Amino acid sequence: MNTADVVVVGAGVLGLSTAYWLAKTGSKVVVLDKGRTAWEASGRASGYLSLRGETPIEARLAAVAEKLWHSLDDELGYVTEWCPEGRLWAAFPYEWEAMQETYKSFSKTDFPFRLIDGNEARSLLPYLSDSVVGAIHTTHGGHANPQRTAQAFAWACMDRGAVIRENAPVLSIRTSGGKIVGVVTPDGEIATPIVVNCAGPGAGKIAEMIGAEVPVAAARLEAMVTAPLPPMFKFAMIGNGVSVRQTHRGNLHFNGGPHEWIDVDLTSEPVKPTTPIIRNAARRVAELLPSAKNIPLLRCWGGVIDLTPDHSIVIDRVPGPDGMFVSVASGHGFGLAPAIGKALAELTLTGDSTIPIRELGLSRFANLPKDWRKQFKWEAGNYNT
Ligand SMILES: Cc1cc2nc3c(=O)[nH]c(=O)nc-3n(C[C@H](O)[C@H](O)[C@H](O)COP(=O)(O)OP(=O)(O)OC[C@H]3O[C@@H](n4cnc5c(N)ncnc54)[C@H](O)[C@@H]3O)c2cc1C
Repeated sequence: MNTADVVVVGAGVLGLSTAYWLAKTGSKVVVLDKGRTAWEASGRASGYLSLRGETPIEARLAAVAEKLWHSLDDELGYVTEWCPEGRLWAAFPYEWEAMQETYKSFSKTDFPFRLIDGNEARSLLPYLSDSVVGAIHTTHGGHANPQRTAQAFAWACMDRGAVIRENAPVLSIRTSGGKIVGVVTPDGEIATPIVVNCAGPGAGKIAEMIGAEVPVAAARLEAMVTAPLPPMFKFAMIGNGVSVRQTHRGNLHFNGGPHEWIDVDLTSEPVKPTTPIIRNAARRVAELLPSAKNIPLLRCWGGVIDLTPDHSIVIDRVPGPDGMFVSVASGHGFGLAPAIGKALAELTLTGDSTIPIRELGLSRFANLPKDWRKQFKWEAGNYNT
């Protein structure tokens, strides 16, 4: 039988980051994915580091992540295309009142956010629509290339001895005497005392294997890139309901608009048809950056994210038989992955973390009703508009 000190379930950016930090300490790590490496949300993300101004308890995690991003290429030995050029939230008149409320929450974090008027926003980005009336700006944050980042973590953890097994769904977890003892795949069992559950939308199903609950719902959303354009802006931008960044090659890479709730299962890939939402998101970008209006779309794709009931991250030990740890990134895990993986690795090895994660535990859902997805209208087939 194969053995591992730690089995990580999920070769997305969270699982790969955790595997990297664990392998760096000398742990024998096996990463299992039911599909291919970073084929799900992690390879389909827009690439922002979310600073989490909306939820100041996560902003502290974002600050750790930002610090790690600045030296991540050197740490991993591979390129991520990290672009540390800050962030702009632009508001049309219909968004301005809400943005001023949002700013109050942003101000509770340690990041230096500024509320600016439309003219100052246009001085930062002359291509911005004349209808933009105000913005929040910060020099903190940035964006990177999701595929290259996931690839960098995958190569770096393999360089340090971790093994990644693709097309290896976890079918069950064996326990004995109140402890995890092994993980079962179609190719046999891997004996291990520790499972790190980074299965994204499948995290709830992996937790159920040891009789525990991790509340997570899956939603499908859309992203796209235009043909390359000359350099327009370097920061990560949000406005008119879409997130837009310009890639190193010049493409506008964006996503936004509504998303659709779906169900996922243990072994198969969730389907990702593209839909009329593409037209909706493309129109929003043309309104925000009028000079992009006639630029052809090059590629569109769907991706599936995992959302927790309060939209905040979970990083915790899973109650029940000893040995399972989990993180669910709630739709903003790409940028935070360097810090989440490090925190999970520390938690797994020492039972605690130097990174501020105490308020991100599962106990906050203790009173969640069993049928929360129904009550929230987060069941498959519904749209979140
Ligand atoms: C269009 C889009 C745009 C986004 N933009 C951003 C952004 O700009 N910034 C940001 O921070 N975040 C963004 N996100 C969210 C971000 O991509 C995710 O939060 C992050 O990738 C989560 O990483 P993960 O490793 O937890 O999950 P995933 O990448 O979903 O990986 C989970 C893995 O677990 C595997 N798995 C599931 N069940 C099993 C099983 N039974 N056995 C074995 N393996 C299993 C899956 O195959 C999958 O590969 C975006 C997401 C999408 C879809």
